[in-house]
Amino acid sequence: MVNGTATEPQKNLIRLLAVERGLDLQTIEAGFEDMTKSLASDFIKFLKGLAATNPAKPVQIVEAGFYKLGEKYFEVRESKAGRLYAVEIYQSASGGATSDYAPGIVRLLKPENLLTLDEAKVFGKETGSCCICRRELTNPESIESGIGPVCASRF
Ligand SMILES: [Zn+2]
Repeated sequence: MVNGTATEPQKNLIRLLAVERGLDLQTIEAGFEDMTKSLASDFIKFLKGLAATNPAKPVQIVEAGFYKLGEKYFEVRESKAGRLYAVEIYQSASGGATSDYAPGIVRLLKPENLLTLDEAKVFGKETGSCCICRRELTNPESIESGIGPVCASRF
């Protein structure tokens, strides 16, 4: 392949533009699998050429917390300046879970994307780590349920 696959910032921009234009996010996400960098860049140009049907609102959600969008897990935090931003939570190579700033994502999240206890458990079972506190699950009961009692009590 001459060209690598689409980068995360490209994908995030595509998600943002797609939502602003009223396109179905799941269909868009499905196309990421075999999207090259140059295809992504063409697609971004195409999306920018479409009129926004849902012009960017400042922020769609009003509270910090945990969210799941597509297959990804996010925590929304508030900055010292009072601005909400999202970090993506994922399994760390060194054990436990970790998170990285996910630019633009906070504008895609809606109240219905709030993480449920069942979704938190799925993350814990798949990764062996708690998506709320990011710690590796060590207690056999917590491993079994995918979350520890303290973090489960937040739901
Ligand atoms: Zn936890």
